[in-house]
Amino acid sequence: MLNTIEKFEKIVRALLSDELTNPVSELVASKDLYTTLDLSLSENGIPDDEFEHLLKDLVLKTPRTATNAFFNQLFGGRNEKAVLGDLLAVILNSSMYTYKVAGPQVGVEKILLRETCKIIGWDSNSDGTFASGGSMTNYMAMVMARDAFDQAIKFEGVQRKMIVYTSKESHYSIPKNAAFSGIGRNNVRYVPCDDFGKMNVSELSKMIVEDKQNGFAPMMVNLTAGTTVMGAFDEITEVRKICDAHRMWIHLDGAYCGSVLFSKTYKHLIDGVELVDSFSYNAHKMIGTPVTCSIIVARNKKHLHDSFSNEASYLYQTDHDEFNLGKTSLQCGRRNDALKFWTLWKSVGTNGLERIIDRQFDLADVARNYIKSNSDYVLYSFEESISVCFNYKGIPARKICTALYEHSQLLVSYGSFRQDEFIRLVTINAQNKKEDILNFFQTLESFVEEHSALFSPVLQ
Ligand SMILES: *Cc1c(COP(=O)(O)O)cnc(C)c1O
Repeated sequence: MLNTIEKFEKIVRALLSDELTNPVSELVASKDLYTTLDLSLSENGIPDDEFEHLLKDLVLKTPRTATNAFFNQLFGGRNEKAVLGDLLAVILNSSMYTYKVAGPQVGVEKILLRETCKIIGWDSNSDGTFASGGSMTNYMAMVMARDAFDQAIKFEGVQRKMIVYTSKESHYSIPKNAAFSGIGRNNVRYVPCDDFGKMNVSELSKMIVEDKQNGFAPMMVNLTAGTTVMGAFDEITEVRKICDAHRMWIHLDGAYCGSVLFSKTYKHLIDGVELVDSFSYNAHKMIGTPVTCSIIVARNKKHLHDSFSNEASYLYQTDHDEFNLGKTSLQCGRRNDALKFWTLWKSVGTNGLERIIDRQFDLADVARNYIKSNSDYVLYSFEESISVCFNYKGIPARKICTALYEHSQLLVSYGSFRQDEFIRLVTINAQNKKEDILNFFQTLESFVEEHSALFSPVLQ
């Protein structure tokens, strides 16, 4: 094993030093993948030195998500304290279903859930669990909502037209989950948004009333804390009143920006979070742990047990349910995603988490101010969002993003809202500094200047 750790260290050192000069890896085009790297598997193994060489090559040619040139998705950076936790989780190889095999790691997970609930303002009746990503925590929420609406469904199956409401700007896992849970994709209603990408609450109310008049069963509203493109936050308190009147579940999908929970300055963006029935957030997004680290908490833990527990005498042989996490999990065997979040939180404290969140909004301000003060840019996004959406010199966003990728300059993606398509710069890497953001614009501008032929006729 020690030999393996040495090999690991060698490869990591090579990667880290290469990242300093090449924050974007050299592009391996998909059409060239199998000729550039020998990924083939065969009857016989290969000699150790050849194996090591190949492995290092594979690592060096993989897109770099931790550098100051990665702005492509809703994660980034490499938080050392969290990485340490995740490496140890691999070595320990716990499975989180029982206390018998996970021992103190159960406590690690429980403490994270308890503290999350406490910060929301929930009592000891609340609880939660981890799942393999935000799509899956959203799925768990939908299943709990379905079962809370009608306890018979888990035995009999869905017998009636149940309706789920979510905004047009919400995540694509909602219709997928409606299909998985037997509710059906056609029974998801997409509520229109206002100019800032927030759900229009009076439209929601009208849609629910209309569905009831048609004999359908409105069952759940999915709200979003940080929509995937614009980073908008849906209103919670007004929606709670509507859902109380109709006996409906509210899930708050905070996969992207639910972690504002940890910031005194930005927590107001999820005002009313304590009123929802379930809330999920991805610590691998704003908090910056390695992927994946996705948490769901429910105001009343009864719903977790009602929807996910199953007796299994071959599995649950010791200890109380509180310590056998399999009783509230979607999975059976489950990797330890908690330790990396715990190592980070323990070492920097809740105040440290707050600084991580606030930094991202500061960096977004830097980007927005730069865009606003430069007439070559058009800004599409608003304050208090870490998705900064813009266009440069009228160049189509997808053209510029693809060219930057193909020339190994920057990884950044594009998105759209209503009729506009734009570049979406995500300032989620809290390790970045102001200079890294300014450098992003510098790189973009020099690239366009040097490759103006690529962007004609727009630039003529
Ligand atoms: C990222 C995201 C998800 C999905 O999370 P995964 O961990 O990628 O499955 C769900 N909802 C929102 C709003 C997201 O931004």
